[in-house]
Amino acid sequence: MRRKLIAGNWKMNGSLVANQELIGAVAAGLPVAHCAVALCVPSPYLAQAQALLAGSGIDLGAQDLSCHESGAFTGEISAAMLREFGVRYAIVGHSERRQFHRESDAEVAQKAQRALAAGITPIVCIGETLAEREAGQTEAVVKRQLAAVIHTNGHCISEIVLAYEPVWAIGTGKTASPQQAQQVHAVLRSQLAAASEHADRIGILYGGSMNAVNAANLLGQPDIDGGLIGGASLKAADFLAIISAAA
Ligand code: PEP
Repeated sequence: MRRKLIAGNWKMNGSLVANQELIGAVAAGLPVAHCAVALCVPSPYLAQAQALLAGSGIDLGAQDLSCHESGAFTGEISAAMLREFGVRYAIVGHSERRQFHRESDAEVAQKAQRALAAGITPIVCIGETLAEREAGQTEAVVKRQLAAVIHTNGHCISEIVLAYEPVWAIGTGKTASPQQAQQVHAVLRSQLAAASEHADRIGILYGGSMNAVNAANLLGQPDIDGGLIGGASLKAADFLAIISAAA
């Protein structure tokens, strides 16, 4: 059986003082029997978060990594560097990176490959825009995005975590209904099954305005194995309520 994962994506938020308070509150409030939990923090705070999370049972995550191994790529951060800070997960292909940094399906697939080669589990984000959903293209879009990752990563695909994040639901307060999300997750599950005999190990998270109120219904769907949480991960009480809903 797949263990549920609740991963917080802080995006470009935080400060040394605020992080200490937030991580302290989340670690102190973690239920005794909890699902897997991770915090994906901005890169400058990796060392701080690594120290604060030590022994907490919460894993450290990054929000991106370079598709290159090393060298003349000013401003980029390699998978090996992340690994030195104890990073266990790295988000790749978040819609904000696809949109604002023009990341292609192929680049996202390479990032996943770099992460895996360094022993980091990529949380690979895919999802359709509102215009694509309204044009009836949801399945075609997410299948295309996933196909690129399968193509580049071959049998290693069973080592990734996938996150279905409809772009229209991210940071908007609009959530896919549990049925809408489950429908897409089931499509992704069968695409993964066709690519790997170990597909049943692959966690598929839902992301998009998941919060303390809607989490239980979403997480109750058979193919929803956890959540990638943006806004609600910045408030300890809300994030802890989602973790409890996943138990
Ligand atoms: C995200 O950033 O991946 C996300 C799902 O954000 P939010 O929960 O704020 O919609």
